[in-house]
Amino acid sequence: SWGSLSDKNVYDWSSEEEEPDGRARPVQVLLVKDDHTFELDEAALSRILLAEEVQDREVVAISVAGAFRKGKSFLMDFMLRFMYNHTTENWVGDSDEPLTGFSWRGGSERETTGIQIWSEVFLVDKPDGRKVAVLLMDTQGTFDSQSTLRDSATVFALSTMISSMQVYNISQNVQEDDLQHLQLFTEYGRLAMEETFLKPFQSMIFLVRDWSFPYEFPYGLEGGTKFLEKRLKISENQHEELQNVRKHIHSCFTNISCFLMPHPGLKVATNPHFDGRMKEIDGEFINNLKVLVPWLLSPGNIDVKEINGSRITCRGLLEYFKAYIKIYQG
Ligand code: GDP
Ligand code: MG
Repeated sequence: SWGSLSDKNVYDWSSEEEEPDGRARPVQVLLVKDDHTFELDEAALSRILLAEEVQDREVVAISVAGAFRKGKSFLMDFMLRFMYNHTTENWVGDSDEPLTGFSWRGGSERETTGIQIWSEVFLVDKPDGRKVAVLLMDTQGTFDSQSTLRDSATVFALSTMISSMQVYNISQNVQEDDLQHLQLFTEYGRLAMEETFLKPFQSMIFLVRDWSFPYEFPYGLEGGTKFLEKRLKISENQHEELQNVRKHIHSCFTNISCFLMPHPGLKVATNPHFDGRMKEIDGEFINNLKVLVPWLLSPGNIDVKEINGSRITCRGLLEYFKAYIKIYQG
């Protein structure tokens, strides 16, 4: 069974950065400022990763990355529901329950670029008996202009470097520029890392939102696998540039997979008063969510973070995070 730290007082809640009621919340650990410099909140990150119960545990770090306003935080909140409630039949929630957790619904909010981490690290028992610490990371990037593309590249690279699973959240299809972005971002990461004969990163999941060709490739993992196989195929008659992007992506990740998600319905996409309650989300979306989230997070499927072939603890991850950010701060 899974454990959770939710009712244990393991953090220093008296700190000004935490909610006074002691509830878990998203913590901005990396912020890209207006002048394009990076700020790491080392104190906040330390409080999370050096909490007594988790600091010496091997860490599973799960990140979701991609362009703004494509439903990353919305998905993250369902991942949180799973982490908190997976032992109940209905982990996905009641039909009238508003969705909370990471802030989704951008609206008129200023767009920040950076990385947020859920303040509660979950202790999970793997089927092999190991107890591991699971960290959930939400990233924000813009991908829209040249100046912010560099910021986004750094955020994407950093989150890929410190996660064991990167979910690349993309809208509607896997376009050539999504692959080019991935190449740029992972190259950014690889350059900053020690040279190794191993593949530098672990799992990459292409999560396609609003997939609208289910008659060609059905929703879910099977359709996604076939679709991605076709998209990442390297062939002789392809332009060299297209071949190189594909070779690069294959060389970076130990596992590459793809999941096709249906559109969640117009209320989710367009109603400004939508608060995340399930009864306003399309049934097809929820059915696929019930496959996707356990596939991503169930104890048998999560992998411990490895760097150069060594398994990393929460404490170790903190050190890598600090070292990597220094490289980008130049
Ligand atoms: P983020 O910037 O990627 O974290 O996006 P958010 O999670 O904040 O969501 C942005 C908007 O997209 C919100 O209005 C959500 O209701 C909506 N949304 C969430 N999931 C989806 C999806 O799968 N498809 C569409 N079209 N909209 C979504
Ligand atoms: Mg978000």
